[in-house]
Amino acid sequence: SYRKGGYHAVRIGDPFSGGRYIAQRKLGWGQFSTVWLAYDTLSSSYVALKIQKSAQQFAQAALHEIEFLSAAADGDLQNTKCVVRLIDHFKHAGPNGQHLCMVLEFLGDSLLRLIRYNRYKGLKMDKVREICRCVLTGLDYLHRELGMIHSDLKPENILLCSTIDPAKDPVRSGLTPLLEKPEGNANGGGGSSTMNLIEKKLKRRAKRAVAKISERRVSMVGGEASSNTERSLDGIDMRCKVVDFGNACWADKQFAEEIQTRQYRAPEVILKSGYSFSVDMWSFGCTAFELVTGDMLFAPKEGNGYGEDEDHLALMMELLGKMPRKIAIGGAKSKDYFDRHGDLKRIRRLKYWPLDRLLVDKYKLPEAEAKEFTEFLSPILEFAPEKRPTAQQCLEHPWMNVVSTQNNADNVESQMRNLHIKG
Ligand code: ADP
Ligand code: MG
Repeated sequence: SYRKGGYHAVRIGDPFSGGRYIAQRKLGWGQFSTVWLAYDTLSSSYVALKIQKSAQQFAQAALHEIEFLSAAADGDLQNTKCVVRLIDHFKHAGPNGQHLCMVLEFLGDSLLRLIRYNRYKGLKMDKVREICRCVLTGLDYLHRELGMIHSDLKPENILLCSTIDPAKDPVRSGLTPLLEKPEGNANGGGGSSTMNLIEKKLKRRAKRAVAKISERRVSMVGGEASSNTERSLDGIDMRCKVVDFGNACWADKQFAEEIQTRQYRAPEVILKSGYSFSVDMWSFGCTAFELVTGDMLFAPKEGNGYGEDEDHLALMMELLGKMPRKIAIGGAKSKDYFDRHGDLKRIRRLKYWPLDRLLVDKYKLPEAEAKEFTEFLSPILEFAPEKRPTAQQCLEHPWMNVVSTQNNADNVESQMRNLHIKG
């Protein structure tokens, strides 16, 4: 991909934007871009430099992202609304063409890495609550103040706020090196030219989750005993921000019918019944579950005689009960999956395993904790999009406002050093 129209090769120390930014090290990469830690000589601070591939379609996508990031920055002058801040953007000419570059505030690891760091065992409820508060603050802002739908909310697109100054330790900055050893020659997301690493991992996880789910269809005895010792995140501040506006749209000006990453996709998107802000709430619900359990809520897979979409709908109904007939048959694609009674055409026998039982039986949550969390999550996973609570309503939910039992350590940095030694 380092050819005409592709990525721009960067070397440490390379100057950008007339020498204002100096490349320090690679943070990660996506399908369209590489992201570098850079030093901003103007503000004397570290930033994330996202360098887009140069071909026309990538430039177009970058302009789109810049439009949404700019709108988000313009409405959030105090930078308190849990959305990544766009600092600057410019064009950079290189041997592979013109690259649009976005300068973003420097953030830490994604929640996907956090979940991995915790060995897919899920986070403590208080940590989940802190993360949910940030994500909901971001969504409330995007939805209510900007009229924007993110359309790709998932753990990979939520980054922890970095609490370490890279200037103090430029190599070991952010949470990344503390959470996990860098893989290959990159620290962040990233991947190969064909499929990015995170996607490969997601696929692998999906496979595992599918294995677990088939196990669940076969028997009601779930849960895996694990001898792994728990890793402590005590004292780590779980502030985070929503990133990746490459797929964002305006509620009144939508671009695509098929949106969202598969596992976080709302039922109305699958059925093509039209969508709005509440698709982000669905993805938020899936993400919250994943933070608590370490497992994806829905990891559909095509099977013998049915496709991924139909499996996805089946998994939803196994957890949430039968989809109301009106909703089931109301979409442009409904006839592909449902008969006129609102039953799936090819997957006939569903095993109902409701959320509160799943959390207790399989994930061993205490009854009371499972009940509280289910009361928070169930309305968000409503089949009827208009019945789902808004981000603002979620923020006011009693579960959000349970007083934390954990006192936040005041010296987060020393706690994290400690963690690094233990880890
Ligand atoms: P793409 O749209 O190409 O997928 P992303 O915006 O998702 O690009 O960024 C790719 C990766 O770069 C992310 O997964 C993350 O590891 C890293 N990254 C992106 N933005 C930042 C940031 N502001 N601070 C630190 N790392 C970032
Ligand atoms: Mg991305």
